Amino acid sequence: MIELINGIAVSKDFDGKLFGRMNKKEDTVIQIGDKKIGDGEFAVIAGPCSVESKEQILDIAKFVADNGAEFLRGGAFKPRTSPYSFQGLEVEGLKYLHESKQKTGLPVVTELTSLKYIDEYMKYVDVIQVGARNMQNYDMLKELGKIDKPILLKRGIAATINEFLMSAEYILSGGNEKVILCERGIRTFSDYTRNTLDIGAIPLLKKITHLPVIVDPSHASGLWWLIEPLSLAAKAVGADGIIVEVHNQPENALSDGGQSIKFDVFKEMMNKLL
Ligand code: PEP
Ligand code: MN
Repeated sequence: MIELINGIAVSKDFDGKLFGRMNKKEDTVIQIGDKKIGDGEFAVIAGPCSVESKEQILDIAKFVADNGAEFLRGGAFKPRTSPYSFQGLEVEGLKYLHESKQKTGLPVVTELTSLKYIDEYMKYVDVIQVGARNMQNYDMLKELGKIDKPILLKRGIAATINEFLMSAEYILSGGNEKVILCERGIRTFSDYTRNTLDIGAIPLLKKITHLPVIVDPSHASGLWWLIEPLSLAAKAVGADGIIVEVHNQPENALSDGGQSIKFDVFKEMMNKLL
């Protein structure tokens, strides 16, 4: 049973939990270089699904930086459904992301798929993304609890709110307080979108937890033309930002081209969002 008392969601389940607003009322603000997430400003993390080449990531990084993005995304290690699909440029990709940061000033957000590479991530990456498929990789979460690096934790494909929060608790209880939650759509019977954006989860989570909550409209919808309305919806319900896929040539993208927005669409969306 969840009760709302003075705007804070209160339940026996949250009692004593580090994520709970019951125990820490003030919003957690995550400092990343000279940027912040959770400070009341709407943060935009933008970039391609995958890093495909040095030129590609640099070109996209420059464009999104010039148009209001504060962070650069791009997968170097890709968790793909098929083993025959592009798997990412791996450590080379991390280096290209780092180079793009040096040229644009955008801190880098990228997914970790194996703890084998943690040293490279500590060196080249500003925010470590835990993907939906690894939300319940408890060994990984425990290790990420021991490091001093912000973690962007995505909600699992079929994870309940409680499971999502308990995964965050694994990281927090290890001593790493810098956790950003990301609602990226859950699998439902709805058939025209890749996933279903659980829009109600955002105000709900904001009442339960002091951690920042962002939205990924790209994986939530799978359709580039739904990105703008879902991003505006995310802002309207109080999200702290979005992580969005942008590509210079979506038609030739090596992953998720159909849900990636082109430069002009990104620019127009940013004019409405910020
Ligand atoms: C991604 O951000 O490219 C990704 C694979 O996301 P998710 O883990 O949400 O599927
Ligand atoms: Mn993707």
